Amino acid sequence: MKTIGLIGGMSWESTTTYYRYINEAVRDKLGGLSSADLLLSSLDFASIVALQKADRWDDAGSVLGGAGARLARAGADCILICTNTMHLVADKVERMSGLPLINIIDETADVLKGDGCRRPLLLATRYTMEHGFYSDRMASHGIDVLVPAAEERQRIHATIFDELCQGIISDASRAEMMGIIERAASQGADSVILGCTEIQLLLDPRALPLPGYDSTELHAKAAVRFALSGEALANPGAAIKGVKDLSL
Ligand code: GLU
Repeated sequence: MKTIGLIGGMSWESTTTYYRYINEAVRDKLGGLSSADLLLSSLDFASIVALQKADRWDDAGSVLGGAGARLARAGADCILICTNTMHLVADKVERMSGLPLINIIDETADVLKGDGCRRPLLLATRYTMEHGFYSDRMASHGIDVLVPAAEERQRIHATIFDELCQGIISDASRAEMMGIIERAASQGADSVILGCTEIQLLLDPRALPLPGYDSTELHAKAAVRFALSGEALANPGAAIKGVKDLSL
């Protein structure tokens, strides 16, 4: 089994989900007491958010790249950045770590394409919805991402940082997100990307008015596929619990 390197803590609320999904998938595939061989570099999220707010993305990339390099020295075989937003600096992190980086945007795009989805609504931080790095990369896969209206983007961003990243799960915010998804469905969206690794704490991707894709699950799946490539699987058909199409 290869060693998975996680750059997490952004926020730790979703990093715990990564840990669980990755280990569940390894157990499902290898059986018994098997669990993932992984290393975690968990950063102080407050200092990353300060750099985001100051628009100091290159400096943030250096911090994450340093974490990636530490994981490489510790023996990781690949790197995951456990947040969509910080894929804005994915190239720098990959360069500094010298390891293959499993990109959350590419992994999400592959599954959408396989399911024939071409016009997903993106629910994410304002950085992810507005900076172009996400929609441009999706466009390179032939996927035309739709983003909510400005006021809705503001509300989603606030829900992520003021609630979900602080462990607060609110029925009112869930209802608000469902309203945004319903409006997008009436405007031609064919699916929804939970494009922030905490949104799965609020929304069940299988209980939405449109087909839902949880970036956290899809990213975790890709990591396990990488880690187990070349392994003899005890249970080749097993999927990560509750996750659509996660056979490896
Ligand atoms: N985890 C979130 C994401 O997937 C937001 C936190 C961050 O700004 O990195 O984008």
